[in-house]
Amino acid sequence: MFDNLSEKLERSFKLLKGQGKITEINVAETLKDIRRALLDADVNFKTAKTFTEKVKEEALGQDVLSAVKPEQMMVKIVHDELTKLMGGASTDINLKGEPAIILIAGLQGSGKTTFTGKLASFLKTKRSKNPLLVAGDVYRPAAINQLQVLGEQISVPVFTQEGSKDPVQIAKDAIKEAKQKGFDLVIIDTAGRLAVDAEMMNEISAIKNAVKPHEILFVVDSMTGQDAVNTAKEFNDRLDFDGVVLTKLDGDTRGGAALSIRSVVNKPIKFVGTGEKMDALDVFHPSRMADRILG
Ligand code: GDP
Repeated sequence: MFDNLSEKLERSFKLLKGQGKITEINVAETLKDIRRALLDADVNFKTAKTFTEKVKEEALGQDVLSAVKPEQMMVKIVHDELTKLMGGASTDINLKGEPAIILIAGLQGSGKTTFTGKLASFLKTKRSKNPLLVAGDVYRPAAINQLQVLGEQISVPVFTQEGSKDPVQIAKDAIKEAKQKGFDLVIIDTAGRLAVDAEMMNEISAIKNAVKPHEILFVVDSMTGQDAVNTAKEFNDRLDFDGVVLTKLDGDTRGGAALSIRSVVNKPIKFVGTGEKMDALDVFHPSRMADRILG
């Protein structure tokens, strides 16, 4: 993802060989490399700064001479700090309700509708759930149709209300129907705009208040870098969501969003989208992501 950060680290760390303990002076160049790599990856400035300070704390005083492979020591320190920065372990979603209600939020084009289908398929096959999808984007007929096409592909029914412009009512009616027909999971796709606006936020807050979801997932395009972080912050301030879904990670060569989002909004990344197909979804594992970042 980065321009092979681990190679860079090993190279600059080799310069420390034979110097005994790591000191503030001899590690300065390596830290600069790390910071530069993070900024190149579009990690926000504050995150990059805090991160390098933490790595420095860990590294200072480490005994270079006694390490088996000293150049790998720094890579390990950076790997562990990256993992910590992204939350340490993976975080599950809450499926406890009867039915469990999951609300999907995000900007238009972020991959919301695609993710709604992927998540239904994932929970159906991996967690034996019986999901009902809800087409809550009442402004774009194409969005309703898109969800129906996906539903058919994965054999999951989609609740729609033709002609209705009231997503709150649609969501409530869908949940009523789920209870009547024995669905144990309701996933609500919502309308997005191209940028954060008050109307969209009011609408999604109204849905949240009306249906009291067990899980709110915020979907964001990882290719949008710093914007992804700002959008996440705005949605979180308003919705207090439970987790983040990073989409289009297959096209993201830098990965800054994955690193910055957790530290800026303090909410876990739960899933990553890795393609357009319905099975292109992975549970987010911070340690695996750290491996990928280090290259
Ligand atoms: P929405 O407006 O937020 O509902 O976004 P869509 O679900 O319609 O997705 C927008 C575009 O991104 C579509 O062309 C999707 O096929 C594509 N897309 C969604 N998720 C991914 C992903 O993980 N990887 C790639 N490469 N494309 C994706």
